[in-house]
Order: sequence, then C-alpha cells, then structure tokens
Amino acid sequence: MSHVFPRHTKATYPIAEKGDGCYIIDRDGKKYFDGSGGAAVSCLGHSDPDVTNAIKTQVDRLAFAHTGFFSTEPAEELADLLIAHAPGGLDRVYFVSGGSEAMEAALKLARQYFLEKGETSRHRVIARRQSYHGNTLGALATGGNQWRREPFSPLMIDTTHISPCYEYRGRLEGETAFDYGQRIANELETEIQRLGPENVMAFVAEPVVGATAGAVPPVDGYFKRIREICDQYGILLILDEVMCGMGRTGTLFACDQDGIAPDILCIAKGLGAGYQPIGAMLCTSQIYGAIESGSGFFQHGHTYIGHPVACAASLAVLKKLTGGVADQVEPLGVKLQAALQDAFGQHAHVGDIRGRGLFRGIELVEDRGSKTPFDPKRGLHKAVKKAAFEAGLICYPMGGTIDGVTGDHILVAPPFIMNDTQIGEVVSKLDQALTAAL
Ligand code: PMP
Repeated sequence: MSHVFPRHTKATYPIAEKGDGCYIIDRDGKKYFDGSGGAAVSCLGHSDPDVTNAIKTQVDRLAFAHTGFFSTEPAEELADLLIAHAPGGLDRVYFVSGGSEAMEAALKLARQYFLEKGETSRHRVIARRQSYHGNTLGALATGGNQWRREPFSPLMIDTTHISPCYEYRGRLEGETAFDYGQRIANELETEIQRLGPENVMAFVAEPVVGATAGAVPPVDGYFKRIREICDQYGILLILDEVMCGMGRTGTLFACDQDGIAPDILCIAKGLGAGYQPIGAMLCTSQIYGAIESGSGFFQHGHTYIGHPVACAASLAVLKKLTGGVADQVEPLGVKLQAALQDAFGQHAHVGDIRGRGLFRGIELVEDRGSKTPFDPKRGLHKAVKKAAFEAGLICYPMGGTIDGVTGDHILVAPPFIMNDTQIGEVVSKLDQALTAAL
C-alpha cells in the first residue's frame, strides 16, 4: 500500500520514472507524449542538459541562503534577465515557489502599496468569473471557478467577479469582436462604481485564460480598455501569467500581444519549466518605490523565496527561452492550430478550437449549432483524459460552470521543443481519445 496522499484517492497512478524530451516514461516502459506539461509547465521537455547541469552546479556551490540575510547570484541574474524582457515599467522581481504564492504576494503587495500611500480604504479585488488564480485562500478567492471555491467559501476574502472575455459564448449576433471586448471591459467600470472606487485596490485577470476553459484569448482592444479603466480609477492591474506566460503564447509575456503592461505580473510554471518549483511577482518601480520610501519592508514572505537552486534552474531556462527556443512557439503554434482544425474543425462535437502559440483549447459540445454543452453528469472531460492517457498522451481536459453553462474543454500545451511529426502524434492520439470517449 502506498503512503502517498494522491490527488484522487480512488485512482491508481503509474510511477513516472524517466523523462526524455517531450516524453515521460513510466516504470513499465510505457511512453507518454507530454501534451500539457501537467498544466503548461514543461516548456523545455524533460531532459534538458543545460538546465540539469545548472541545478547540479548550484547545489554543489550553495544549496540555500535565507533571504532575510542574503541575496544570491542566480537570483540577481535571473531578476536582471526577466526585467530586461518584461513589459515596460516592471522593474522589480519578488521570487516565490509557485503560482499561488505569486498571486498571494501580488494581493498583499497591492494592499500594502495603498496603505503606504495612505489610501487605507482600498482593499476590494475584482476578478472574472472565468478564471483560476491558485489554490491558497487569497488566490482561490480571487479565482471565479465555482467548483474549486465552493467548499472553502466561508474562509474567503470578499472578491467580486465580472464577465470573462469569452468570445465563443459571449459575443452577440451582429456585434463585432472589438465592440464585444469594449462592452465586456466596461463591466469593470460599472463594478468599480458599485463598490466605490475608493474601496477598490486591484483588478486581476489572466491574459489568456487557462485552467477554467482551455486557452481563451481576449479579443483585440479588450485589455487596452481594461488598462484605461484601471488608470482612470487609480486601481492596480494584476495580470496572472502563471500559465500563459514564459513564451507559451508566442511572446515571452502574453500581455505583450495586447499592447499593455500591468502594474503587477505573476509568472510561474514555465519559469522553472518543471525542473524546480519557482514563481515570481514583478512590479513597477512606482509600487516598489512606495514601499521603499515608506515602511521599507514588504510584510510578506516564505522560507524558500528566492531559492538559489530554483533561481539557477530558472536562469538556465530563461536563457534558452530568450536565446531562440521561445521563437519556435509562434510557428509551431500556427501548425498545431492548423492540424487541430484539419482533424476536428468539422467534428460534430467540437464547438471551438482556439488559443495562441502552443496554448490551445478545444471546447466540446453536444450540438455545434446551438453550442449546447454535454450533460455535466456524463463527465466527458474525465473520459477524454483517461482515454488520452491510455493512448499515450498527457493532455489537460477540464470541466466547469461559467454563467450557468457547464463546459468540457481540452487544453493542449506541449513543449516548445516538439517537432512537426509530434504535432501529428498529438492530434492522432487526441482523435483516438475523442473517439473512445464520445
Ligand atoms: N494562476 C494560474 C493562471 C494558474 O493556471 C495556476 C495553476 N494552474 C495558478 C495560478 C496556481 O499556480 P500553482 O499551482 O503553481 O500554485
């Protein structure tokens, strides 16, 4: 009997033994194409020698030094390289150990920023109904995923949620994509006015939604309008690029494609590429300056923040991403989207195929014309996950209810080192899985 506390207590899991490029191999020798990196983590695949060597070198030199006493070379270098590539205005990097921690830090930094400025009533957070921002209590409260929130709702901070930018279901007949984006973005202004601008500290969003609906990109102009509204009311814009950042959508930061920069940006997953647990929160010099010239102390922190081995791994990852690997994402993404369209574009139960770069989502529906979803009791996404895994493909099917519509979605987020043949492999295994599950 295993003593590990597994994710699903009724499931049995094969033992993953070895990584080889885009594949994970289990103890019985079965090979799985990693088509989702768990959840868009493994951007460099599983056996990158540059990253593993960087880890070994750093462990030999220094395994740990507490940030209450020291900074370290890998943390300094990594912060410099991140800021050199980050959206304009972002100037400081706070390292953590994952995505939820990055979001917690962002929420607390936003609150402390306003306290330092004397705007003490600002504490309310507005987010979107279609969102996931992590599993710790603050991050969970920020996310809109009902199923994840429900059991813990009495423990949560009071957050409000506006509509997502979800063109497939939200755009009205006859409305242009641009007009749809403006209409939906304007919900933020209405919500700010309802709460009282003096009470609102931040709006939080994923530029491309991941874990609630399988890669939903915004329409053009949506985030520009969001940025305008935040500026107008002095509210901080926190972008959660934990899943969609680090080159996943074709640019190093997803928001680069929307022509805006946030006040606070959270990244994780692809930052360590799975080689080490690491996340980061980037903020502007304005926010950092308020703390520096105020109390001089960010009232937050965990033991392992800025862990030198994690930073060394991440530095090696980032050097590879910025040294050319991330440039592969856009052309590969175009091919992947075309291959998914070819295979499933006319499929009776595929309603939408969407995304950016190597971050693609497929929405399954009972009826394409009416976009009627499958009965949630059927648990279709779970059947797809199982069938894909049996076929040797790791992908990320998910279900959830947004505005009363329960959907089945499949997220495909393969490593950036995949080749054209492997695009074919992903699509054909997905085809097998859909045939078996439907
Ligand atoms: N934000 C987003 C957008 C995510 O997708 C996730 C993880 N799926 C998180 C935050 C939380 O990250 P972690 O699981 O590393 O805590």
